[in-house]
Amino acid sequence: MITTATIEGLEPSKAIARLLLDKEIPVDLVQHKKGESIIVTLHVEEDDEERVQSLLEENVSKVNGLIRCPSCESASVEFPGRPRRSPSAAVVEAIAEKLQIREPAFYCRNCQHSWQ
Ligand SMILES: [Zn+2]
Repeated sequence: MITTATIEGLEPSKAIARLLLDKEIPVDLVQHKKGESIIVTLHVEEDDEERVQSLLEENVSKVNGLIRCPSCESASVEFPGRPRRSPSAAVVEAIAEKLQIREPAFYCRNCQHSWQ
């Protein structure tokens, strides 16, 4: 599966997942944290991606929270995120903070633009 879109907020991402499941498109949601906000990445089979992107465009009025590239406005956005559950992840995070590694960024698969 590939990351096809990134959504801010849990409720909007559930609404988008429902939209895709209605069309019988298998979808996976992965939750990330970015500061105080919940960022959800939407994963679909590579073969379904084109269909998913056009569905998102068709339903743009119903779809909230979709993160778009500030450069090309594509919704084909990835978010690397970092799981913050296990103690080892917390250790990695503490080290990263000391080394001042930047926060995970959004990444546009359309134009390769990356932003915070
Ligand atoms: Zn872009």
